[in-house]
Amino acid sequence: MSKGLLIVLSGPSGVGKGTIYSRLLKTLPNLTVSVSVTTRKPREGEINGVHYYFTTKPEFTEMRDRGELLEYAETVGNFYGTPKTPVLKKLDDGVDVILEIDVKGAKQIKRVYPDCITIFILPPSEEELKKRLVGRGTETAEQVRARLALAKEEIAQSGYFDYNVINNDIDVATDDIIKIIKKQKESKNVNRSAY
Ligand code: 5GP
Repeated sequence: MSKGLLIVLSGPSGVGKGTIYSRLLKTLPNLTVSVSVTTRKPREGEINGVHYYFTTKPEFTEMRDRGELLEYAETVGNFYGTPKTPVLKKLDDGVDVILEIDVKGAKQIKRVYPDCITIFILPPSEEELKKRLVGRGTETAEQVRARLALAKEEIAQSGYFDYNVINNDIDVATDDIIKIIKKQKESKNVNRSAY
């Protein structure tokens, strides 16, 4: 059986990654998520083991030191990492896996797993991103400022990714990403049975 495709999805906070991510999962039957580990506190409605595995800094550090993370990064004061074993197992089973991670993590994944595809989602403008981030209402004004500053840094690195997709319209952006994934599966020796 051929291996699954590893897809890395990055983009600034508030760009609409979460919505695109859940639409991709509904549309592509062979696609599955990787649930990250984080030291961030859960937001309202977030479920442990579904949205993230919420953990403490000492526990996170232990996981990292035991080599259990495929990549990890510290971003706006919290640690985030991708558990290694479940991702590699799914890829071996021919299942495609999508990682919704930051730019630092995307770079690490490309190094350890060069066959992955990396996609960066861009906002139509910085103004629009700010509007979405404030409108979401999940962060304090200080956190919004920190995330916007980080967004600028991340956008400056978008050229590093295999593909850039502008999220002007969520349907169009999702369709663009579906086309990218399908094209990639056509051209690579990955499991195509589900497409
Ligand atoms: P949030 O706190 O809004 O859920 O996520 C903040 C940032 O952390 C987002 O850019 C998200 O993509 C990134 N992130 C989430 N999980 C991981 C992970 O496992 N590794 C890395 N490197 N970044 C992650």
